[in-house]
Amino acid sequence: MNQTRANSSLSRVRPLRLPRVCVAVAAANCSELLAKAEAAVVESPFLEFRLDYLKQPAASLAKLHSFCRAHPEAVFIATCRRAANGGKFHGSVEAELKILRKAAVSGFQLVDLELQSAHALKPGEIAKLRSQAGLILSYHDFRATRKLEETFRQMAAIPANYYKLATTATCLYDNVLLMKFLQAKSREHSVVGLCMGEQGIISRLLALRVGSAFTFASAIPGEETAPGQLTARTLREVYRLDHLDAATRIYGVAGNPVAQSLSPLMLNTAFRRENVNAVYLALCTKELDDLVACVREVPISGLSITMPHKENIVGYLDNTDTLTQKTGACNTVVRSPDGRLFGFNTDVAGVLAPLEQRLPLTGAKVLLIGAGGAARAAAFGLKNRGAQLFIINRTSAKGLKLARQAEAKYLKRAEVKKHSFDVIINATPLGMDSTQIPLTEQEIHARFVLDMIYTSAETPFTRAGRAAGAEVIAGTEMFVQQGARQFEIWTGKPAPAQEMLNVVAAALAAGNRKAEARSKNSEVRSQNTEIVR
Ligand code: NAP
Repeated sequence: MNQTRANSSLSRVRPLRLPRVCVAVAAANCSELLAKAEAAVVESPFLEFRLDYLKQPAASLAKLHSFCRAHPEAVFIATCRRAANGGKFHGSVEAELKILRKAAVSGFQLVDLELQSAHALKPGEIAKLRSQAGLILSYHDFRATRKLEETFRQMAAIPANYYKLATTATCLYDNVLLMKFLQAKSREHSVVGLCMGEQGIISRLLALRVGSAFTFASAIPGEETAPGQLTARTLREVYRLDHLDAATRIYGVAGNPVAQSLSPLMLNTAFRRENVNAVYLALCTKELDDLVACVREVPISGLSITMPHKENIVGYLDNTDTLTQKTGACNTVVRSPDGRLFGFNTDVAGVLAPLEQRLPLTGAKVLLIGAGGAARAAAFGLKNRGAQLFIINRTSAKGLKLARQAEAKYLKRAEVKKHSFDVIINATPLGMDSTQIPLTEQEIHARFVLDMIYTSAETPFTRAGRAAGAEVIAGTEMFVQQGARQFEIWTGKPAPAQEMLNVVAAALAAGNRKAEARSKNSEVRSQNTEIVR
């Protein structure tokens, strides 16, 4: 199909200049849907109404018509995806068509018709629909990213205003496949594309650089209409999607899992604050081969490496700093313009900086709990500063090995309470999601305790440390300092560390408030259940 033909009835759509983000709204009844749309349209003048979520979509269109008329400045898509194609509408293709036609005359400027439905309709029926509203011909693959050319050949045989492909990323490289495809097709067609799923998150932003006319978002967390969807606010405020252009440098955190990582919030805040044209994404990485292939093609300028890849990434690097060589772990990668990968370890600086702000480390007596990657960074950093280092670990063989390498003294747990330390550092995940504690209040004799866990402001270990009279250093400080060094390595500018700490602390406080509210609600629910019983 040629583009002139495809766009011949674009008169209703073309002058609208679509915003980059379309917010999908969905609800089971019309008044709830309208309430959500009313709230969303204030910030986003481009909404997709998922009519298939409504119990009675046809009966709701009169009310939706009034809404469309009340918002002449906004653009609305009507979608009534059938259950067979991944939606919630259980009617026939004819019933879907009827609803979309009604939507088209009710003020929806765009209607979304699935390729499978289009195949079941006569060309004249589709042409008629397209004479009433702009047509988005869409295809969804909820399992993989495959057969893109073959699918597009079928799609392009049907005249439409936009061709939308939403596939599923089963690896990071699927994003590359889809983006290359979009880049090629966008030369002749108006295309919209993204990869669904946690591994596809990067495509939700980067596809816009390679020709996707827009992307989709949810209105609020928990209301996603597709896997991996981010909220419109996150896209705008965290990822600064409206500023994304061809010159924007791309960075990201590679790990598994990374969906809850605070690194995107922290580093994107730093980029915005320092006016760096860069975006920092979450790359859910199952295999390092996949990550490295993706990094080379996208191309990505730098990476934070997190669990479980800090050690194995070293084998992929062209060169490393001495701290990476000493610790055997890398948490920061720089990709040079010629594609070579350089590794750094900023966890060492991350743990030293908050300590050095409080006490001289030369001669300081420090107990390190743990012998994993983070403990190794702390051990070599502290030894390098001349600290007197002690180590305990669950698996004594590993603890003894690190103690030998870092010239530290290995202690048995029973020996700990006989000592008094300047600092005790928890470098284990004990207490992250539980009430488990690496040392009890009675065992802690220290001026400072530092818990590397940074997923909550207070941990069982910091609570015990405080009760034992120690000053608490939160893991967030280490997290921010290692991130600040990454920012400096990538940009050559001083990092806005205070701003980074503020935004991380605020996000953790908001997370804690939500968790408290959830546990209160479940308490109330269980009390109510008791009453009912
Ligand atoms: P890792 O390499 O897996 O090492 C885990 C360490 O914790 C090992 O010494 C392990 O002992 C010990 N451990 C695990 N489960 C235990 C349990 N149930 N009881 C007793 N000991 C246990 O992990 P890592 O990368 O070093 O990370 C450790 C912690 O530091 C994590 O909580 C991580 O989130 C945090 N961290 C924070 C930052 C930051 O910026 N704040 C940076 C890096 C890491 P074994 O030797 O016996 O297995």
